[in-house]
Amino acid sequence: MAVIRGGTRVGRSFRPDFLLVRQNLKDAGEDYKKLLLALKFGGVPSINNLNAIFNFQDKPWVFGFLVQLQRRLGKENFPLIEQTFYPDHREMITFSRFPIVVKIGHAHGGLGKVKVENLNDFQDMASVVAVANTYCTVEPYIDSKYDIHVQKIGNNYKAFMRKSISGCWKTNTGSAMLEQISMPERYKMWVDEVSELFGGLDICALEVVVGKDGREYIIEVNDSALTLLGDTQEEDRRHIADLVSSRMQAICRPKTPPPNEEPVPPPVGPRGILGSLTSLTRDITDTPPPSAASDAPSLSNIGRRDSQASQSSTVSSAPSTGRLPDPPPRPFQRQGSQSQSLVEDTEDTMKNLRKTFAGIFGDM
Ligand code: ATP
Repeated sequence: MAVIRGGTRVGRSFRPDFLLVRQNLKDAGEDYKKLLLALKFGGVPSINNLNAIFNFQDKPWVFGFLVQLQRRLGKENFPLIEQTFYPDHREMITFSRFPIVVKIGHAHGGLGKVKVENLNDFQDMASVVAVANTYCTVEPYIDSKYDIHVQKIGNNYKAFMRKSISGCWKTNTGSAMLEQISMPERYKMWVDEVSELFGGLDICALEVVVGKDGREYIIEVNDSALTLLGDTQEEDRRHIADLVSSRMQAICRPKTPPPNEEPVPPPVGPRGILGSLTSLTRDITDTPPPSAASDAPSLSNIGRRDSQASQSSTVSSAPSTGRLPDPPPRPFQRQGSQSQSLVEDTEDTMKNLRKTFAGIFGDM
């Protein structure tokens, strides 16, 4: 990220400890894939996991996984709606059954979903898909009684019935009546199966359309960006918060030093040292550096080193006279498992701190 320090534009890198994704990666006219790539580079642990978020970039891609699930579980056990995929408008020549719903590209909130009654309208739609320059999917229009929204947040399950009041065939557009309903075993089984996708979805929801004849059709799955519904939204937010904090407790802990290594003074955890030095850093980067007269490193030097270890600044506008030589730049690049990269990160920081303390107080 760019920050202005003393009138100079400075590049800074930082690594969040943890991430909760409550926003769609892509929507009509929006695409945050570049940020996702940065977070993957940083090996940032998150809910839902970053691979899952990546997989949710295109609805037909997710639908493909639902088709696989249906093949495994059987049509009766996983009643997925039938869908046809068109890579682009050129293949949209004809369709045999109407009415249908055409879903153009990847968008949420009912955007790009059009009900089509006959072949003439279908061909008109093909011309719209042509200028949208994207793919589309087509599925039968279900004359519905209501929708069911089945959500899973960690180990908490809820099901809602949503019925349009405004008369719009899309129940998520205009006004709708919402009611929490009991959770039949089959809904739980569907959402449990879906939550196993892409390395596990900590938070997910299934959308089901229920026809006038009572038949159920699973139409899609949403990820951690799902919309919270009804009077229980506050409770759901708490479930999400609990999920995040328990995951952070498990994977964001500072590493305890191995028994053969001497503990580093002062006798507080590495994050304690990091925290106090980071506050020093903030002070010195905001104020001009002290005069370069003394050879002995000052506390502000220590702070600056810590700043580079924890934040990995790429450009610094602060003059370097009278300071310890800069450590080699650390590439903002990690490989291996997330927990391993966290351990390595802490080890690097500890090594830098030990070197710094050795420089001031002699070998420790
Ligand atoms: P998101 O949940 O990501 O915001 P979306 O709103 O863009 O998705 P859908 O959930 O597929 O798209 O459709 C919106 C609404 O349109 C559904 O909630 C449902 O009420 C209605 N709908 C979608 N597909 C059909 C269908 N095949 N037949 C009848 N109604 C449908």
